[in-house]
Amino acid sequence: MKSPDASVAAALAPPLDCGLCPRLVAYRAANHRKEPSWHNAPVASFGPLEADLLIVGLAPGRRGANRTARPFTGDFAGDLLYATLLTHGFATGSYAARADDGLELRNCRITNAVRCVPPENKPTGTEAATCRPFLRAEFDAMERLSVVLALGTIAHQAVLAALGRVRAAQRFGHGATHEIGAGRRLVDSYHCSRLNTNTGRLTEAMFHAIFDKIRAHLGG
Ligand code: SF4
Repeated sequence: MKSPDASVAAALAPPLDCGLCPRLVAYRAANHRKEPSWHNAPVASFGPLEADLLIVGLAPGRRGANRTARPFTGDFAGDLLYATLLTHGFATGSYAARADDGLELRNCRITNAVRCVPPENKPTGTEAATCRPFLRAEFDAMERLSVVLALGTIAHQAVLAALGRVRAAQRFGHGATHEIGAGRRLVDSYHCSRLNTNTGRLTEAMFHAIFDKIRAHLGG
C-alpha cells in the first residue's frame, strides 16, 4: 500500500487536538476525564487510498471508534459492518472489535462525515460543515474511487455537500444509486446501527443486498 505524502496525509487526517468544533472539543475532554485510556480524539480513516469503494459513516460512536481509534470498531454497528465486509471479500482476517485485531480492508476504505464523537451521536450542521474538508480530501486522494456507500441520511448529505452537488436533487433512499460525477456512484443504505436493526428498518439481508449491488457496480 502506498503511503500518502505529508501534505495529502495532513488534508486527510485532522490533528488529534483539532480545535475547530468547540462543542466536540469539550465533549472529547469530558470523555477523556471519564475514560482516560480511550482514544477521545478525531478518528482517522481506515483502509487503502487505492480502493474502489469508500464507506462513509456519520461519526465515531462514543464506546466504539472514539474508544478504539478505528472507524466502526468496538460497537454494534461495527459487528455488522465488518462481518458483512468479510462475507463480501472487502476485508481479510478476523474482526475482534479492536484496532489491533489484524483485520485488513481490501479495495475498501472507511471514513466518517464527522471525525469526532458528538453528544448523543448527533453532530450539528455547523460541525458537519466544519469537518467537511477532511471528507473532501478523501475524494481527492482516492484516484480509483468508483463507489461511495453512504450509511444514513447525514452521510449521504455530507457526501453530496463535499462534492458541491445539489442535495435536493438527489434524495436519500435505502438502496438508491446516484451519479456523483467523474464516473462515480453514490449508493445509500440505512445506517447499520443497533437501533435500525432492532427495529427491523435494516435487516442483515438488506445490508448484504447493498453489498451485492456494490459488487455489481464494481464489475463482480
Ligand atoms: S469534528 Fe472534525 S473539524 Fe470538528 S474538531 Fe473534530 S476533527 Fe476537527
